[in-house]
Amino acid sequence: FSRLKSGLSKTRDSFSKGLDNLVHGKAQVGPEMMDEIEEALLIADAGMGATRKILDALKREVSENHLRTQEEVQAHLKTIMAGLLQEHQTPWDLNSKKPFIVLVIGINGSGKTTTIGKLAGKWSKEGKKVLVAAGDTFRAAAIEQLQMWSERANVPCIAQKKGADPSAVAYDAVQAGIARKSDIVLIDTAGRLQTNTNLMEELKKVKRVIGKVQPDAPHETILVLDGSIGQNSISQARLFHEALHIDSLVMTKLDGTAKGGILFNIVQEMKLPVRYIGVGEKAEDLQEFQPEAFVNALFE
Ligand code: GDP
Repeated sequence: FSRLKSGLSKTRDSFSKGLDNLVHGKAQVGPEMMDEIEEALLIADAGMGATRKILDALKREVSENHLRTQEEVQAHLKTIMAGLLQEHQTPWDLNSKKPFIVLVIGINGSGKTTTIGKLAGKWSKEGKKVLVAAGDTFRAAAIEQLQMWSERANVPCIAQKKGADPSAVAYDAVQAGIARKSDIVLIDTAGRLQTNTNLMEELKKVKRVIGKVQPDAPHETILVLDGSIGQNSISQARLFHEALHIDSLVMTKLDGTAKGGILFNIVQEMKLPVRYIGVGEKAEDLQEFQPEAFVNALFE
């Protein structure tokens, strides 16, 4: 929790500064306090939809439960905020398939490769047999970077030369995962310009080819988003979802922004589970997303 807290410090500082009346008990429970909460949520990029929903629920609870103190309002607000983040969360049973095949997509720089590296390390430490695949064949550096992560995590990495067909890499990876009885296969992909239709076609082909080797796979297609780009992450998510159908999200770089409220916005808009959030560059800074802890870190 302390890493989560320090990772979210920019958002917390900005958010709690905006909540002077609520947090520091400077005003009575009433419209002024509600306006302040609304503004703080909007400044944190929680978005109109989520902010409305939170405020409506809070106002209802204030009147129904006759909340009189700041402490009561704050407790209810936290529960409502966590509830909104929880709405589309689903359990993630990695043991439900063997191998469990995860396709990781997102634009360059969003944090795909590091996310794969960190997850491979974490799961391998937990005793799972992990295999990674360097599917971003567009950039030599991406292949090398993943190979470096895989060595550090001591897991095999399926790779071909720069310029190779990414679906051939994915094909090899799934076959290798089955042959080696891996528990989890993590497949990296290219991410040049999300508007590039070639990229979407390439990713569709990767998905199709994976399904040819293992008919119900990929078992999860994860979109990695850079949390520091704020509202733009929503249009990005829509583009990927329309073309490829995403199952879940990872949001990185929340340590670099005061707009960490974007999580409320993206959950409200995309109605998808968030698996992990990134709050720093270290391996332990990629944290399983827990709505209640996230909300607590914004207040404490
Ligand atoms: P890719 O192009 O999508 O594969 O992106 P990379 O995995 O190469 O990540 C791009 C950069 O973002 C790297 O320098 C990572 O260390 C950095 N990065 C990834 N996640 C986080 C995070 O949660 N916080 C911070 N501060 N940096 C991150």
